[in-house]
Amino acid sequence: MSDFELVIRNGTLIDPERRRVTVGNLGVQNGRIAALTRAELAGEREIDAGLRAVCPGFIDIHAHVDGHPYSARRMAGQGVTTTVGGNCGMGPLDLEDCFAGLDRRGFPIHQAMLVGHSFALREAAGARNPRRPATPEQIRTMLALAEKALAAGAAGISFGLEYAPGSSWEEVLALSQLAARHGKLVAIHLRTDGWAGLDALREALRLNERTGAALQISHLAYQLGMGMMTEAVGMLDAAVAGGRDVTADSGMYHAFATYIGSAVFDEGCVAKWGCGYQDLYAATGPYAGKPLTEAIYRELRAGRGRDVVVAFAGREAEVYEALLPEYVMVSSDGAVGRPGPGNGHPQDVGTFPRFFQKAVRETGTLSLLEAVRRCTLLPAERLGLKNKGRLRVGADADLVIFDPETIADRAGYPGFGQPDAAPAGIRAVIVNGVVVAEEGAVRETALPGRAVRAANQVWHWV
Ligand SMILES: [Zn+2]
Repeated sequence: MSDFELVIRNGTLIDPERRRVTVGNLGVQNGRIAALTRAELAGEREIDAGLRAVCPGFIDIHAHVDGHPYSARRMAGQGVTTTVGGNCGMGPLDLEDCFAGLDRRGFPIHQAMLVGHSFALREAAGARNPRRPATPEQIRTMLALAEKALAAGAAGISFGLEYAPGSSWEEVLALSQLAARHGKLVAIHLRTDGWAGLDALREALRLNERTGAALQISHLAYQLGMGMMTEAVGMLDAAVAGGRDVTADSGMYHAFATYIGSAVFDEGCVAKWGCGYQDLYAATGPYAGKPLTEAIYRELRAGRGRDVVVAFAGREAEVYEALLPEYVMVSSDGAVGRPGPGNGHPQDVGTFPRFFQKAVRETGTLSLLEAVRRCTLLPAERLGLKNKGRLRVGADADLVIFDPETIADRAGYPGFGQPDAAPAGIRAVIVNGVVVAEEGAVRETALPGRAVRAANQVWHWV
């Protein structure tokens, strides 16, 4: 008789908590890690890791999967076992309903949620013009709705200030104070990018100084990787060195993707980024895979605002510079605009494989152990998830088995490659003790993922 539902034998076990790398066997029972040992284990199902890396599943602290199963499966294929949604001020408002649906139907991976200010809360409160500040009455409505979402298990409040540039300091401050009282995260897509993004970063840091709210600066390279990363990291370093509760996340690509109809693509954007219309590529819609012209830019802006466009506005070297500080996690920003087969952005399928390929193997920016910590323990601690991101007995059996020598992103930008090509080098991905992806193939019917309600305070000094 088997003692375990699943046994992974002969793995290089990477434990980011104790900072240990050792060879051994791992047993899973009832969705939890039940044994870590060099002794032989017997399981109903056994996987020989062949000395490949075995580590906690990746936690993507910034994505837009938001309960969409297709995108969740693409995330599973790249080793993500928990995705955090409701980012950039977007996402659903009724989280009680959202979480209940995920638990009832099951989901390919685990889904945590933030509640978004700049679309979700603003629209529900009647502040529909993104260029105008909310009224005091609308702020009161947003506070009540946000409080409800936090009580339902939201991990924090997200802001997409670039999408709602009219947002006043008063409304952002009031919501940040609420998050601080609940001990939950404030995640900010900065008010502007490029050089003015440094002022926007100052604004975000001031929110932390005024409220004490745990601050997460979202997708650093996408907003500040255009020549100002050294200065941006210097500001963050100073805040962290001064004891401020500030962290950040950043992706693996220098071209970001978002809705063409949003304020991000307002008139003058290409001049601000120092590029041209030909550096903008449609990722979804009728022009998917094609570079824009000024005429197509205007056509999409006028009538197809929900199409996603990739902007080659950043510098590749700054992608790696953003990953150097020990408080920076890897994030995908993936699944924006609900991509389907054949379209989207390579971040939807390749962020985490690319992180290990580029940051560890090719550039030597980070050690394998430190790289694992950045996408497991660090986000788990940030979100107050005590049973995830850890390789120890009793922790949730969310696991990845991959080959550090061959793991690679094989996706390409729209117009240059296949945006949804599956990565190489991932042997298996396990969610709640269930294998959801194996040898590059995602099991379409596996739904072991659940809603992740953030009940614990992120801030837990006593
Ligand atoms: Zn964003």
